[in-house]
Amino acid sequence: MKDLQTIREHAALYLIWSNRVLSRGRISDILSLKPPTVSALIHDLINSGRVREGRLADSSGGRRAKLLEIVPTWGWVIGLEFSSRGIVSACARMNGDIYNIKQSNIESGAGRDKILKSLSAAIRYQINNIRKIDLAPIFRIGVAISGLVDEKTGISINFPRLEDWKDVPLKQIFEQEFGVRTVVENRITAITCAEHLFGEHKDLKDVLIFQMGPGLGMGIILNGQVRRGVKWSVGEFGHIAFSSDNGPLCYCGKRGCLESVASDYALVAQAKDAIKDGVNTRILDFAGSKDNITAEAICHAAEDGDRLAYNMLERVGYFLAMGVANLLNVLGPEAVLFGGSMIEPNDVLLDCIQRNLRVYTLEYIEKHVKVAKATFGSNQGIQGAITIALNDCYTKPQAGNSIG
Ligand SMILES: [Zn+2]
Repeated sequence: MKDLQTIREHAALYLIWSNRVLSRGRISDILSLKPPTVSALIHDLINSGRVREGRLADSSGGRRAKLLEIVPTWGWVIGLEFSSRGIVSACARMNGDIYNIKQSNIESGAGRDKILKSLSAAIRYQINNIRKIDLAPIFRIGVAISGLVDEKTGISINFPRLEDWKDVPLKQIFEQEFGVRTVVENRITAITCAEHLFGEHKDLKDVLIFQMGPGLGMGIILNGQVRRGVKWSVGEFGHIAFSSDNGPLCYCGKRGCLESVASDYALVAQAKDAIKDGVNTRILDFAGSKDNITAEAICHAAEDGDRLAYNMLERVGYFLAMGVANLLNVLGPEAVLFGGSMIEPNDVLLDCIQRNLRVYTLEYIEKHVKVAKATFGSNQGIQGAITIALNDCYTKPQAGNSIG
């Protein structure tokens, strides 16, 4: 059994990490410990090289105390993000500072085995990079992956549009290969954890986070907690029934899903069709060629005044706002945040969504809900992967192996 001192040390470390900087007084308040007990605790954490004194606290009269922070260099974690946009990897220090973000694409048509090799190669690359810097232990690998994930067993149950990706035991595969404890989480849940702990709106208790990309997903923070739902199925915003008649067939097997008319994929497909039909547009000036049309190119063309691009985003924004407004009317959150490949390039789509939210959200809810972009922009997936890795380090410090 862990002794009381160890439990208190772990609790204090978690608080200092998750608050970035913290005073002894706050630790004493939160853990209901007397100041001398906290002093002894902090003394041990400083001596063991995990915590240090940083900048001075803002003055509230009297002597200004030094705030405590995590010593970044006592270890590393590795983050891995796998979504329809490809693979992103990075490493991070123990305070959460992220380094060496690297993107690699997946060949179109690649199956399970090839993708697993690419994921392993991305982790190996980060390990090699870390070892060029120092020999501090690597404590965790955090994986944020699209699709359903059983986060307890670390099994990736499925992946959007990848037919041979079924029940892949990622945790087991990486733990065997690299000998380091691995945590696997649904990508949007990982992003939601990062927003919840470190986002600009982290102090709010009820927040919805929408991902407007190749898929449409949402993260839910209710009463200060990240929701996972029954069997990890929370947040399938893209598959809410949308079309009253027999709408287009979705890859999930249903007809009329929101995602089949208003996702990054749908937007790009609509642009290609319009160009094939001879519609006058400058989207290709931004994309380079027909094969390279992306949501980003369409957003930039729209901002530049291209009618087709703007009208397509206006239509997508209208559909998305209807879906979002329904959820705002039901849940009445304090804030609604937007991220993803159709939101990141500029404000065109978010403006369309916001305009339509004013129409379809109940007035008293719309008046109070804060609408903003998600905090971490195009790095939100990797930020999520690093956050779940560090969260596991600080909440389960004695679990699993590390390298080094
Ligand atoms: Zn669907």
